[in-house]
Amino acid sequence: MIVLKTNKELILMREAGKIAARALELAGKAVEPGVTTQEINNIVHKFIISQGAAPSFLNYNGFPASCCISLNNEVIHGIPSSNRKVRSGDIVSIDVGAYINGFHGDNAWTFPCGDILPEYSSLLNATRDSLFEAIKIAKPGNRIGDIGNTVEGYIKSRGYSVVRDFVGHGVGTQLHEEPSVPNFGREGHGARLSLGMTIAIEPMVNLGTGDVKVLEDNWTTVTADGKFSAHFEHTVAITPEGAVILTDPK
Ligand code: MG
Repeated sequence: MIVLKTNKELILMREAGKIAARALELAGKAVEPGVTTQEINNIVHKFIISQGAAPSFLNYNGFPASCCISLNNEVIHGIPSSNRKVRSGDIVSIDVGAYINGFHGDNAWTFPCGDILPEYSSLLNATRDSLFEAIKIAKPGNRIGDIGNTVEGYIKSRGYSVVRDFVGHGVGTQLHEEPSVPNFGREGHGARLSLGMTIAIEPMVNLGTGDVKVLEDNWTTVTADGKFSAHFEHTVAITPEGAVILTDPK
């Protein structure tokens, strides 16, 4: 069942989204050569707690950290570790959720560390731009399939692949709610976008094929071909004016 939120609930969700966005912003600023992914995780954790919120991901289905940090060929769900140093040339995907007022906010961004190869910059730009293209068309009356179709069309035309095994989702009192929001789809198909719907749109885009596999830790998801991958995500609300980004740090 898709749970629609009242305007009052959207105001509460906006607060969760803002905290998640600010935590992500801080995490991005911490990305520099030599920092460990555990150190970035600690910054995220401390900030979220300092706001009176809780990290949505900590202990979610047993996930052992307050954010996911996935480097290079890792697509999503990387587990922060004090043994993992970020190096210049890496791309660093950080996924952060915050829970407050009974609601979650969920967002992700891929940050470059130092100077990265032009082909990786292009991948990051295309993935980010595909997210904003999807947000533009996420208006009442359009459908979930239009979002996926927009992301996939944008990405395919640039020679990249979308990941199909993992998808975006509804967000609310639960971190993952209905509907699923795939990064592929058919125009005019799927659930209709309605007022008060709150969804996480999150393109996961691979430089090579879209195939992925999950490592032995049962979390870290990597590209099957070892090529790099990017991930950008916002939680948005469907309003009469179109999609409003709830995970805006401002
Ligand atoms: Mg998400």
